[in-house]
Amino acid sequence: MRKHIIWHEGKVKKEDREKLLGQKGVVIWLTGLSGAGKSTIAHELEWRLLEMGKLAYVLDGDNIRHGLNSDLGFSPEDRKENIRRISEVAKLFADAGIITITAFISPYKEDRKRARSLLAEGEFIEVYVKCPLEVLIKRDPKGLYKKALAGEIKEFTGISAPYEEPEDPEIILETDKETVEESVEKILNYLKERGVI
Ligand code: ADP
Repeated sequence: MRKHIIWHEGKVKKEDREKLLGQKGVVIWLTGLSGAGKSTIAHELEWRLLEMGKLAYVLDGDNIRHGLNSDLGFSPEDRKENIRRISEVAKLFADAGIITITAFISPYKEDRKRARSLLAEGEFIEVYVKCPLEVLIKRDPKGLYKKALAGEIKEFTGISAPYEEPEDPEIILETDKETVEESVEKILNYLKERGVI
């Protein structure tokens, strides 16, 4: 009976929590191929924000798949459900006033659009973590591309499953050309310009 369930706005509002924390609650949505640098950049950004006295939290692919989404695989339907649940969790974290950083491949445009639709204008910051496939195949820190190319992993994004590039992301990071620090700096500058921090 979902129609009888309504969003309960408490006495304490998002704005009150933001004032308390001295920041805006937003979602920084990193998307890109496996090994592009989402997780590395997310954790470095979280650390830099902490040093500045800002509260951030990383929702990371593998961790979520171990827990909340351990029942999901990599079929198109499961990937969609994976991102749907993550989007809802990210929305709650942002509502708590936290700078929420998500690090998921999130290959489908439609799923990212849905995630964006849950948040108010300016609260969803899509970051395309871009890196050419040739570089990723060379990097291959987890040996996944080798396995995918050998046909040992099915439905591997970029090899045997599609990745739909963002058309109009707020930020593009080119991790074959810039360092982790430079990428993080780009995001921090964006957050400062928009008054998030
Ligand atoms: P993803 O989360 O996108 O799968 P990871 O962050 O787990 O990617 O892995 C990226 C790998 O690429 C790491 O081993 C990281 O050290 C390396 N790397 C090399 N150059 C960069 C860069 N400029 N930005 C981010 N990661 C980089």
